[in-house]
Amino acid sequence: MPTSRTSLNQLEMRGYFIHRHIGPNPKQIREMLAELGLSELDEIIGQALPADIVNHEPLKLTETISESAVTKHMRKMRERNKVFTSMIGMGYYDTVMPAVIKRNVLENPGWYTAYTPYQAEVSQGRLEALLNFQQMIIDLTGMELANASLLDEATAAAEAITMSRRLSHSTANAIVVDQDCHPQTIAVVLTRAHSLGYDVIIADPYSGLQQYDFFAVLVQYPGSKGEIKDLSEIAAIAHEKSALLTVAADLLSLVLLKPPGAFDADIAVGSAQRFGVPMGYGGPHAAFFATRDKYKRSVPGRIIGVSKDIHGQIAFRMALQTREQHIRRDKATSNICTAQVLLAVIAGFYAIYHGAEGLRLIAGRVHRYAQILATGISQLGLEVISHCYFDTIVVRVPNRAKRYVAQAADANINLRFIDTDHIGISLDETTTRLNLRELWQVFSTPAIEFPDINRINAALEGCIPESLLRSDNILQHPVFERYHSETEMMRYMRRLARRDIALDRSMIPLGSCTMKLNAATEMQSISYHEFNGLHPFAPLYQTLGYQQLFTELEDMLCDLTGFDAFSLQPNAGSQGEYTGLLVIRKYHEVTGQGQRNICLIPASAHGTNPASAVMAGLKVVVVACDACGNVSLDDLQAKVAEHSNTLAALMITYPSTHGVFEQAFREICNLIHQHGGQVYLDGANFNALVGLCRPGKIGADVAHLNLHKTFCIPHGGGGPGVGPIGVGAHLAPFLPDHPVVKGINPAKGKHDTVGTVSAAPWGSASIYAISWAYIAMMGAAGLKQATLTAILNANYIAKRLAPYYPILYRGKNGWVAHECIIDCSEFKKACNITVDDIAKRLIDYGFHAPTVAFPVADTLMIEPTESEDKAEIDRFCAALIAIRQEIKAIENGNADAENNVLHNAPHTHRLLLEEWTLPYSRQQAFFPDNDQHDDKYWPPVGRIDNVYGDRHVVCTCPPLSDYE
Ligand SMILES: *Cc1c(COP(=O)(O)O)cnc(C)c1O
Repeated sequence: MPTSRTSLNQLEMRGYFIHRHIGPNPKQIREMLAELGLSELDEIIGQALPADIVNHEPLKLTETISESAVTKHMRKMRERNKVFTSMIGMGYYDTVMPAVIKRNVLENPGWYTAYTPYQAEVSQGRLEALLNFQQMIIDLTGMELANASLLDEATAAAEAITMSRRLSHSTANAIVVDQDCHPQTIAVVLTRAHSLGYDVIIADPYSGLQQYDFFAVLVQYPGSKGEIKDLSEIAAIAHEKSALLTVAADLLSLVLLKPPGAFDADIAVGSAQRFGVPMGYGGPHAAFFATRDKYKRSVPGRIIGVSKDIHGQIAFRMALQTREQHIRRDKATSNICTAQVLLAVIAGFYAIYHGAEGLRLIAGRVHRYAQILATGISQLGLEVISHCYFDTIVVRVPNRAKRYVAQAADANINLRFIDTDHIGISLDETTTRLNLRELWQVFSTPAIEFPDINRINAALEGCIPESLLRSDNILQHPVFERYHSETEMMRYMRRLARRDIALDRSMIPLGSCTMKLNAATEMQSISYHEFNGLHPFAPLYQTLGYQQLFTELEDMLCDLTGFDAFSLQPNAGSQGEYTGLLVIRKYHEVTGQGQRNICLIPASAHGTNPASAVMAGLKVVVVACDACGNVSLDDLQAKVAEHSNTLAALMITYPSTHGVFEQAFREICNLIHQHGGQVYLDGANFNALVGLCRPGKIGADVAHLNLHKTFCIPHGGGGPGVGPIGVGAHLAPFLPDHPVVKGINPAKGKHDTVGTVSAAPWGSASIYAISWAYIAMMGAAGLKQATLTAILNANYIAKRLAPYYPILYRGKNGWVAHECIIDCSEFKKACNITVDDIAKRLIDYGFHAPTVAFPVADTLMIEPTESEDKAEIDRFCAALIAIRQEIKAIENGNADAENNVLHNAPHTHRLLLEEWTLPYSRQQAFFPDNDQHDDKYWPPVGRIDNVYGDRHVVCTCPPLSDYE
């Protein structure tokens, strides 16, 4: 019973979110501070941060608000969105996410809190799900190989163009883009082509293609306006000219249509959105990318492949370009890092749940309804100009397009306004007979008899010629046939989820990735229809809730970063980098400095940095780091002097990828500005700065934030992500705009912007609610406390581990920032124990490894975040310390140099089926910390053979016989 002395305020407090989000309780915080010789959290600022970067201005952010208040506020916000029946099409279609998938995947932290599957042994569940996705894409597109998702259809098309450039032997500099591509695809491709210096010919590729000289051609199939045409001739002409053909295809139509592969296309791209993923006002959705087997080493993004483990069992892993950008830097095939794993997983499950037969019913119904609709509209005296279509028709309505669109909106239906004389209508899985009648009502006049669905249906003839229909079987692998009952489906999804280590099991101390809590209250809003039922091109008056969300979130981010404007369009950190650099290039161009094309990048930078710089048309010059891991000021001075006239930008990560607060940040920025360059800040490590430092006020001109790191959007097993960029006022006029939704950059002036970088105007709109809720519930004080706790946790780990593992880099007063790097190079020399061995041994202790060998070889980078409490951190440190003793035993000769717990890790249950011959006990193998018997994580596979996997690249589902 609370006593009468408890204040009314305290009694009224409903769950104080700050203490839900921040792991350590006040007592634990005091203990950790004491370990580090401090008594107050605030003292960390003086200890760890350079004085000249600390912000002293008060933030505008509100007081923290409770979880129930945020839920209420979100409800008010979403009620301002009006969800109409969407028949706009253009790459976004309403769909039904099966409830069993929504409940067991979308809303299950076992799936959404996982990380990109670098540690394959603890990621078999999502790797299998992604392999299923790839198999589905391969089947539907008729291609030989597919990757495990890209960011959206438009960026996938742009990636296809750059890949074509790498592979084509043509000397031409132009690409031909089908004028009937979705306008947002054309816009994104134009932006990319412009930055790389390609010419773009927008034309009708079905006539006169022969006259052009080009290295790539991109067509939409079916066309944006719905027409299905034979692609054979385009493919033949392209190949004759040594050009590559990319087909941007609609996945549901491919259930019925002759697939791109059958036309000899080289690349097929598109969106998997309508396979059960809500439109979400633009995203996130998984794009797909499929191509020929012989091009596999050039594919952007990740491909999941099949390998085997040391027991010879089938095991999945990311094939080939696992950390491609980190190795190939400015020669990387693309800058894609975070993709859309969670959404690809959902789309794959959708196909599994429906199977070939179910998908045929869905696609068949959509097509039949489209035909019935078209016939009815003709009967009403209007001219349907579509001949051969799947789900989209165009009606010619001279001078009346606007009127009909408005009348349809009165009936709560959104149509596509093509031009004053034409409207487009796209149907989807959710279309009903009632929708058809409602639409006919819009076009009807009393004089003409109202169409009758059954009568029209009885007289229908197919509108797609046999030659354009597919005749092969799809989705024949057993996985697409086994799980059609909800019971089996539920169990399959659970079986896969429990194979993985996600945040619902233990801490994931991945440096540079900020695997913090994704709170349930933050996640709630993505499940609401008023947020996820909107088409990205819905009229703005229907999306007032979203407009409010964007404005408020942008204000919050400006407040926290000190920037003047934000663009929410880039849908991953890599895309933010690319966009920010384009903005810088544009600025130089407009100010008469178009010759500036050098991008300085420290040697320690994340691999996406050089890859993005190249995509933005810049030339990368590497700046060395000194012995302490800081940017070498000597080398920087030399490089800026050498390139003074051509210096475009410096890309710098702060705090650095070495996990320390460099002292000279302001000095570095000044130097760049003195030489006419702009400072691009990679804000992936912003979790160390929130509430303490505002980069926009201390010298950065542009920064991207990874909302999926710092601001609580879950990683989804490798996406979604969002990488909005903040800029100073001088750069705001150049932030992205959009060809369909005009006016999204209010600062746009008389000059052009950088163009469009994502398919949707505000990128992955639906997940912004997560970050909004986080910031609102934490408030300025809570965010600052979170940052300090993140730094505290990292330094506490450094303190505890230092006697066992050398801490590679430290900053001022021996403090690290929000992460620390432990150096394991000595073990390799002393007893041939590698960082991989340590990473795999951690699995036996139930932990996901830290970041391995980035940014320095033979190291582990540990980032605990503020969400982990002291008990979990102590458990993790104890595991690493115990492993250190295990290494010592090998060093001392007390354990076998080859046959030891580290080399043999992780230990799987399979070992229990055989006679025990290992030179250590089962206890030591399976329960080394003596403390997890009731919740032991059993890795489903042993150490995976990477070399085998890369030599025998298999990216399709293995036949069942292989499992025996
Ligand atoms: C995560 C990260 C990126 C890339 O962000 P994505 O969202 O994965 O594209 C870039 N730089 C650094 C330092 C990062 O940690």
